[in-house]
Order: sequence, then structure tokens, then C-alpha cells
Amino acid sequence: VTDWQGKNVTVAGLGVSGLPAAKVLHGLGAKVTVVNDGDDARAREQAAELEALGVTVRLGDGATLPEGAELVVTAPGWKPDKPLFTAARRAGVPVWGDVELAWRLRGPDAAPWLCVTGTNGKTTTTRMLASILEAAGLRTAAVGNIGVSLLDAVLGDERYDVLAVELSSYQLHWAPSLRAHSAAVLNLAPDHLDWHGSMEAYARDKGRVYEGNQVACVYNVADKATEDLVREADVEEGCRAIGFTLGAPAPSQLGVVDGILVDRAFVEDRQKNAQELAEVSDVDPPAPHNIANALAAAALARAFGVPPKAVRDGLRAFTPDAHRIAHVADVDGVAYVDDSKATNTHAAQASLAAYEKIVWIAGGLAKGATFDELVAGSAERLRGVVLIGADRALIREALARHAPEVPVVDLGRTDTGAMSAAVQEARRLAAGGDTVLLAPACASMDMFVNYNQRGDAFAQAVRELGT
Ligand code: ADP
Repeated sequence: VTDWQGKNVTVAGLGVSGLPAAKVLHGLGAKVTVVNDGDDARAREQAAELEALGVTVRLGDGATLPEGAELVVTAPGWKPDKPLFTAARRAGVPVWGDVELAWRLRGPDAAPWLCVTGTNGKTTTTRMLASILEAAGLRTAAVGNIGVSLLDAVLGDERYDVLAVELSSYQLHWAPSLRAHSAAVLNLAPDHLDWHGSMEAYARDKGRVYEGNQVACVYNVADKATEDLVREADVEEGCRAIGFTLGAPAPSQLGVVDGILVDRAFVEDRQKNAQELAEVSDVDPPAPHNIANALAAAALARAFGVPPKAVRDGLRAFTPDAHRIAHVADVDGVAYVDDSKATNTHAAQASLAAYEKIVWIAGGLAKGATFDELVAGSAERLRGVVLIGADRALIREALARHAPEVPVVDLGRTDTGAMSAAVQEARRLAAGGDTVLLAPACASMDMFVNYNQRGDAFAQAVRELGT
């Protein structure tokens, strides 16, 4: 679309993506109608703001496609099986997400996108990548599913050389024409299956990130599903498949040799068959899954031509975001660690693997997950378990099957105050040298606004132990 004048566009959903999308489209001259399921105070406030501009807003009615719609721009979280989309499909009306909109509206000299997706590690890897690109003196930003909206990055006054773009599976679902410079799928494990409908559909949406890549498709050697997605993708001629591994790298891979991150994919010096990039100790925290994140970020940066020294400087300058394996305090020789961001079993598995003896605080919304593999794989490291949240019975049953010896305290609570009780129970179960780990393997919305609030409640409860 180049001529937006008078084009009839439906924006589905207000909120962080819908409000700016509606404004931008209205500014381009489109005839915008916003439809929104909810009708709460915040929605009304946003609606009033848009109506003052002359945008039509329908609150409490997100199901019907407005008469004459030529395009739907949806909030990424809207489920594909909603009646609105069925109606759009029947009428032959295209549906774009926020990422597709940004992609289509970017200017002719727009910065290339280096994209990161995967079940876990997206935010960390995207930030590491931005830090590396910055260290190389490039004008860049971490954008997408990470804070700064892509629309702002694409249409704002700031000029960029390259963007580090975090993409969720939802965003990819609604971004059919996105073509990245290079992209990485970090890993693939069951998550959000209630949204996508099946593991196959989830994988297919993640795999879209590789479609049309120009320079490199970065995959995880230890996760064959990611390599399969590369093989299935239709890419530009000359685009290379680049693997990352925690072991020694084969040609066209990045990996680890004697505590050094090594690149065997983008070696400038023809006399050498490997290029040293950084040390494992340059990565914070140096847990295995996080080294993998660093390698993926390095691969994307190297695909963009960033020199080795900038990889090292960028990794050294990087500090992890809150609630991602954050050490809160030591109380009576027990470490308390907040990994509230472990919102699925795959993430919790990574953090449980990083400690020796653990009192595990878990539970919340399972999102259709099963816990047998996680519990069986971690059983011998568990000193005890404290369960909270709506779907805790699923974890309790898995523990009974695979770790019958491990003491389990089921608090039977889903109120916000339960976290404080959980931390006290965990303290009772823990012995000196243990780690009390909040890695819920579940989403937080049954008890908290989000994972941040859950992690804050944990940290607060730990601080109260000390007083
Ligand atoms: P995302 O943006 O994909 O949710 P984050 O970087 O915010 O990923 O990390 C979320 C959680 O996932 C972390 O708290 C940690 O428990 C786990 N995690 C991070 N990187 C990985 C990885 N490469 N593999 C498995 N789990 C990971």
C-alpha cells in the first residue's frame, strides 16, 4: 500500500500497539475504525483520545468486521480463530500485525533488521545484540516485543544503521511479508499452544522469521527443530545457515573451545580457520543457556560485519534485565534467586540446571503445558518444592510421579500474599548452601499483573526474612 488516502482500515485492539497504529494510519489519511473487546476505564480514555482526532472507536465489540473494511491491523495477541478474522478471511481482507505495519511503512533507506525469536532468551539475546552493535559504533536500538515499538523506530526522527528486533510468535504470525537481513530462532519448546492451536502451528509461525533472509539464518545446533525451520525456509540466494553450539564449532558455526567463544562462520583471515570472539566469563550470568544467547547474538552481529573486538566489548557492557536469574540476597547461607521470567517449562529447565541443590517455588498459569519432563529432569537437584497458583496441581502430580521423595508444600493459595508464605516455607525446607529459586514455569496472571510484579513480591518477601 502506498496510497492510504481514504483507505478503510480496521484496527483491532487498543493498547500498546493499537493506539499508536490507529494514530499513524489516521495521520496518513486512512479512514480508521478501532474495534476493541474491552470497555474499561483505560479503553475509554484511549478511545476519547482517538475520537478527538476523528477516529471511529467501537468499544465492547471486537468480534464483527466493520462494513467496508479493506485492511485489518491487529494487536499481535489476538487469537487467529476470532470471528473477526474469520470474517476478514471470507471477505478477502488482509490482516496485518504491528510488525507487518511497521515493515510496510518503513522508508526506502530504512535500516536493516536483525531479528531474534525463540521460546526463551529473546529479550536477553536482543539486548546483547544491541550492546554489541553499539560497541561497533553503529546507531541502533533494541526494538519490537521489548519496549520500543517498531513503528516508533521506523517512523521516528532517530536515524538507525541497523535494528535489533525481538519478535514473538504472535507477531510473526501476523507478519507475512517481513524480510530480515538475518534472523535467529534460539530454541523451540511448547509454549502458547493454547493460542497457536498446535506445536506445528507454533513452529511454523516462529519459522517465518527466516523467510526471505538475505545473509544468515542462525539456528541452535542442540535444538534440531530450529535447524529444520532453516531448511524449510525460502531465503535469498547466498543466505547461509549458521549454527551456534556450546561445544566445539564445526565450519559455519559459532561455539565454545576452552572457555573461549569462537567463530568458524565469519572468519576474515583466510590463514585462520577460527576467530576468537570473547571469553565465557565476559557473559553475565555465565550459565549455559546464557552462553547460548551470547553466541546467537554474536552470530547475528558477525553476519552484519561487526568485528570480533566489538563482540567482546558489547558482551562485557551487557547487564541482564530484572527477574532473569537475579540474585536477590543470601539469608542464613541460602541464596535466593528471582527467575520470575521463567514463565514456561523450557525456561525453568534452564534455570534449574544452573544450580546444585534447590528449593523450587513454582506454579501459576500452565498455558496448556505438561510438567513431566521438567520434573523428571530436575528431580535429583530438588531439596523441596513450594507450589502456588492456579495450575499447581499439574506440577504436584508430576512430582508425585517422578520425584516422590521430594517434600512438597502445596500452599493452596492464589492470592497475592501467597508469595510471602511461599518464601517462608522455602526457607524452612532449605539447608545451608542451597538455592531458593523462583522459576515458576508458568505465567503469572492468575496472581499478579505480570512477571515483574511476581518477582518484586518474591524479592520483598526475601528482604522481610532478613529483618
Ligand atoms: P524471552 O524474551 O524469550 O522471554 P528472556 O531473555 O526474557 O527471554 O528470558 C526469559 C527466561 O528464559 C529467563 O529468565 C531464563 O529462565 C530463560 N532463558 C533465557 N535464555 C534461555 C535459553 N537460551 N534457553 C532456555 N531458557 C532461557
